[in-house]
Amino acid sequence: MKEFTYFMPTKIVFGKDCIINNSNIFKNTGTKAMIVTGRNSAKINGSEKDVIFALEKENIEYIIFDEVEENPDVEIVVKAAEIGKKEKVDFVIGIGGGSPMDAAKAISCLVANPDCTEEILLEEQKKHIPVIEIPTTAGTGSEATPLSVLTFHKQKTKSSINQRIFAECAFLDAKYTESLSPKITNNTAIDALSHIIEGYMAVKSNFFSDIIAEAALKIFKECIPYIENKEYDFEIREKLLICSTIAGILIAQTGTSLPHFFGYQLTYNKHIAHGAANGMLMTEYLKLFGEDEKVLNILNILGMENIEQLQKFFKTTLKEYYDIKFTDEEIDMYTDNTYLKKEKLSTFPYSISKEDIKKVYIASLM
Ligand code: NAP
Ligand code: FE
Repeated sequence: MKEFTYFMPTKIVFGKDCIINNSNIFKNTGTKAMIVTGRNSAKINGSEKDVIFALEKENIEYIIFDEVEENPDVEIVVKAAEIGKKEKVDFVIGIGGGSPMDAAKAISCLVANPDCTEEILLEEQKKHIPVIEIPTTAGTGSEATPLSVLTFHKQKTKSSINQRIFAECAFLDAKYTESLSPKITNNTAIDALSHIIEGYMAVKSNFFSDIIAEAALKIFKECIPYIENKEYDFEIREKLLICSTIAGILIAQTGTSLPHFFGYQLTYNKHIAHGAANGMLMTEYLKLFGEDEKVLNILNILGMENIEQLQKFFKTTLKEYYDIKFTDEEIDMYTDNTYLKKEKLSTFPYSISKEDIKKVYIASLM
């Protein structure tokens, strides 16, 4: 068996009202918090109110930074960190989808290193102040990964920072996800599925991570009819949330692979939602493996007869994105941009040519 290491230090607290019922965790984390969230959703779904209730109950000071938008860029985390430094916060609470949760991690590093510029995000491991994460979408698994994906305008793409920052604690309460539209529910569910598939197929996958991936695939299968019908009861919301966190635990070990890497081009250049971009590229990525036992396992566990049935699932679920038109020039640009990054291509177990990359984009998008 291949050698492996497993490391996931985040405490996971799951259940309805878990924030209010476990407010002591905030007390043990710090004395002044910066809540990092998006503009609206945390106010509507009750998560911000629950966090404030818990902080006030424990007499913890806090400030709120609610300007994080989708696909956060370096500029916004620098802005928040400047406020955090001035206010002397000693821990960060990310509330929201992957965007605020990822921003919270980057902010925690910048606040802990007040004399450094944002360049440190791409340097070797630096210290950070503690982070608590509260997911309100069920997709990124950011609450269980050490990753923080930011938009780098200079490089015209999105990329993970080099700091690996695990949250001290993640609170999982599916009641916050009940306000998600069917569109965001499905896009984010497909992000979780893409983490499971990419983690299962990645070069770094191992016996242990495969067990995690197969368990997550089984849970995802139960959610498929609900995703297709766009109807989700509370039990399915809980399953989607758990599936997303397990998928985060998986990619914390294995990393993601080509659909994520190729998909960042679609998100940066065409504003296609992150999960949708991964889904659109997924089946052509799987075809690169040829006859492969693990690909067959994925189809089997998901209850799909063949790869075409999986493709049909993506085409139905992400219907509106398949209407987007791409030009030959755009495909050439995505191919050139991705072909340059050899370390990302090395997450795929076989050698991959520029022609192969172009074929994946063309077959997926044109
Ligand atoms: P998101 O970008 O965080 O949020 C998308 C939209 O959903 C926003 O408009 C947000 O509104 C809204 N929203 C969030 N929770 C809601 C709720 N409960 N009800 C209604 N609306 C809600 O979406 P995401 O897909 O979760 O995150 C995507 C980001 O995560 C990307 O940047 C991606 O690269 C990154 N990612 C990170 C990892 C990782 O391991 N760190 C893994 C995969 C992806 P507000 O703005 O008002 O909150
Ligand atoms: Fe993702």
